[in-house]
Formats: sequence, C-alpha cells, structure tokens
Amino acid sequence: MIQQQIKAAIRDIHDFPKPGIIFKDITPILKDPVLCEGISDAFLEKLKGAQIDGIAGIESRGFLFGLTLATQLGVPFIPVRKAGKLPFKVNQKVYELEYGTATIEIHTDAFTPGDRILIHDDLLATGGTVTATSQLIQEMGGTVAGFSFVVGLSFLNGIEKITPISDNIIILAD
Ligand code: AMP
Repeated sequence: MIQQQIKAAIRDIHDFPKPGIIFKDITPILKDPVLCEGISDAFLEKLKGAQIDGIAGIESRGFLFGLTLATQLGVPFIPVRKAGKLPFKVNQKVYELEYGTATIEIHTDAFTPGDRILIHDDLLATGGTVTATSQLIQEMGGTVAGFSFVVGLSFLNGIEKITPISDNIIILAD
C-alpha cells in the first residue's frame, strides 16, 4: 500500500542533472502530509524492536525523514554532510565516485563510541554514499545497526554492496 503511494507520488525527471540520468524527484511526497506520516509510520513499524541509539541522515534529502524518525524514536539525529558544511570539528571519509572522489563529514561529537547507528537516505542508488558513511561511522567507533531508504533503484544493485555491512535494510518502495 505505502509502496504504491510512494511510487505514484515520485516524479521521474529525465536527463537531470545530466543526460542519461532519470532523477527520482521526491518533492511531490513532501507536499502530501498524509503520505509523509504514512512513510514515517511504515519506517517505525519496520524498526519495532530494533536497538538504535542514533540515526545518521545523509545530506540533504536524508535529513527529511531522518530527523522525523530520530525524533519519533527519541534518539539523536546525526547529520552526514559534504565537506566544508559542518561548523565544528569533523571526521571525514573520502570515497570514489564514477569520476573523481567525494568527501563526507560527521561532527566528532555526533555520537558515542559503541552506539548503534541506523543510516538513512531518501534513495539507494549504487550504495557508494551509504557504504562510505558506514565506514566513517565504524572508524568513529560506532556500529551500523542497519539502513533505511524511502526508495531503492534495484537495477543498480546497491543492496548487494551494503548487505555485508548490515542485512537490516528497509526500502519502502523499489
Ligand atoms: P549512491 O551513492 O549511488 O547510492 O547515491 C545515493 C545518493 O545520490 C542519494 O543521496 C540520492 O539522493 C542521490 N541519487 C542517486 N541517484 C539518484 C536518482 N536517480 N534520483 C534521485 N537521487 C539520486
């Protein structure tokens, strides 16, 4: 049910941000508060009983449901940002892209070593960003408790990349 509602709301934008890419625009979801509540409820239902000490949300669309979920679970939200955006001391991870590299950062005091962190983003594509995030969290002494995404692009096989890190993977629509 929620899967169909998400799929119906998502808008495919062809050739954005570059030719050949079909961009999954989730902004129509954000216009629908009932659907947003349904998405949060679906995540919470699937997370029932999971031991989670914090939710790491990936810039920028991972902040949307990531903060909502953290608030509802009563745990801290951990912003994962591109280099140069976080104002305090950071730990960083450089990772490979198809062309070149990217860097993500987390504040050094964002969580306590030993915490079990759920990594959240709006969309799972190749899994490169969440894999780098997992490595950074582990380097900082955290444990990856799982992953959650509103949408997964199954043809890119990101799930195969992240399953060895944690097989607790929630994808509401794919
Ligand atoms: P990846 O590291 O390949 O899994 O890419 C994940 C990140 O890129 C997520 O933060 C997504 O929001 C974004 N992204 C990748 N591909 C798309 C797409 N086709 N439509 C919308 N967002 C995308």
